[in-house]
Amino acid sequence: MRTRGDAAVREYSARFDGWEPERFRLSPEQVAELVASLPAQVVDDIARPFRHPGAVRRPSNGHICSVTMTVLMNAGPWLAVPPHGYGGIENVVAALVPELRRRGVRVVLAGVGSSELPVDELVSVYPDGQFAQLQRPFNRVMGVAAAHLHRVVCEVRSRDDITLVHDHQEAFGLTVLAAMGADAPPVLHTLHWDLAKHPELYGNVDGGGRLFVNGVSFNQLTTAPPALRALSVGHVHLATPLAVRADRRPAPPKAGHLVTLGRITPCKGQHIAARVAHRIGRDLVLAGPVGPHHTPDQLAAVGPDDPNPDVRYWREHVEPLVDGRRVRWLGTVVAGARDELVASAAAALLPIEWEEPGGTAVVESLALGTPVVGFRRGCLPELVEHGRTGLLVEPGDEEALAAAVGEAARHDPDEGRRDAARRFTPARMAERYLRLYQRVLAAARNGGTHRLSRAGSTG
Ligand code: UDP
Repeated sequence: MRTRGDAAVREYSARFDGWEPERFRLSPEQVAELVASLPAQVVDDIARPFRHPGAVRRPSNGHICSVTMTVLMNAGPWLAVPPHGYGGIENVVAALVPELRRRGVRVVLAGVGSSELPVDELVSVYPDGQFAQLQRPFNRVMGVAAAHLHRVVCEVRSRDDITLVHDHQEAFGLTVLAAMGADAPPVLHTLHWDLAKHPELYGNVDGGGRLFVNGVSFNQLTTAPPALRALSVGHVHLATPLAVRADRRPAPPKAGHLVTLGRITPCKGQHIAARVAHRIGRDLVLAGPVGPHHTPDQLAAVGPDDPNPDVRYWREHVEPLVDGRRVRWLGTVVAGARDELVASAAAALLPIEWEEPGGTAVVESLALGTPVVGFRRGCLPELVEHGRTGLLVEPGDEEALAAAVGEAARHDPDEGRRDAARRFTPARMAERYLRLYQRVLAAARNGGTHRLSRAGSTG
């Protein structure tokens, strides 16, 4: 047929089907007549691959189904993906998307325009991240989350190739996407936050049979109110590209310092870390933004009455302990410099004062061969193996924390790197999310019913 074209088709048609019309090609009228005689579903099945050539389809059970799913990944309007420096959720999305695409998933990223992550399509309202708006008064900034989500909803409504929406936008994503109605695609909403927040929302949430949630640790989901827990399809731990072959990289030389990496904010406990450093006479480096301020110069330019709660925390509780010698603050540390700072540290000191839900900084520290020392709460006991990859002490016990720092420095850094290479790679995270996507699609098909043996059982 390749060489003889129509002539061969005509010959085989006559030979096998006994069909030999005078004019072999159908006229446009005949085509229209034939199409009109077909069921609408069949016409749609034929037309869809032409409208969306990226979505490969194959016949199954008499109908055509997606074998390549298209996921709309809503990263929110706050920071670029990947982030330039600080960015917990954005780092997770940046780790997940390449692995999904490697497995044949088409990804439409809803994020800000400056996102450089390779994706199949990018949709955005804001050219750049709106992180600086996050801690301004609600009545001034509520439009940011709404504008971004409105764009997401319009995108989902305007096309029919989105298999599933994977949402990372706090509160708004959960409510708006759940309310989109039965003909919208199913949604997996990842809970990156402390579930003690928004009690009226999480206590009464209704997924409409199409929206389900996952946690980023088992412990986090145990704190979910029943209505939210009923929507849970499991938990998936966070991941970092630093974990890939972490066990095969040569161990970096250790300097003597301790490091605390993260937003400078009360729940991350930098004031405790600084107190402990002074108490035991060890150098401590703090890295991370204070509210929207990424450098000491930016922060110095802020007036004394700035209402930002993190600026107030810095001024009242952390700055008095930062002497520039024993305890230093570098501002936000980016990329290779961040990795070097963490990898060369004797220990990552994370005296968290909240139920830390996921902890990217924790898995990064392990992947970089730096034992984690912190309080036994939130996700830490799931991520850190006490006595092997770090040391966890009772929350609030600063004396025990101080003793643990000296002990942790004697740990074999390879233990953490081995664990990270096994448990916290983007590939492993992607496999788990793909399983959850299947669960969500199946549950949405079954009218919203799904079975889980226990809260947080991981896909
Ligand atoms: N981070 C960074 N530079 C900094 C401080 C933080 O690159 O100076 C990154 C850090 O490595 C991690 C993320 O920002 O990837 C913070 O995420 P995490 O889950 O630890 O904290 P949260 O999302 O609660 O702020």
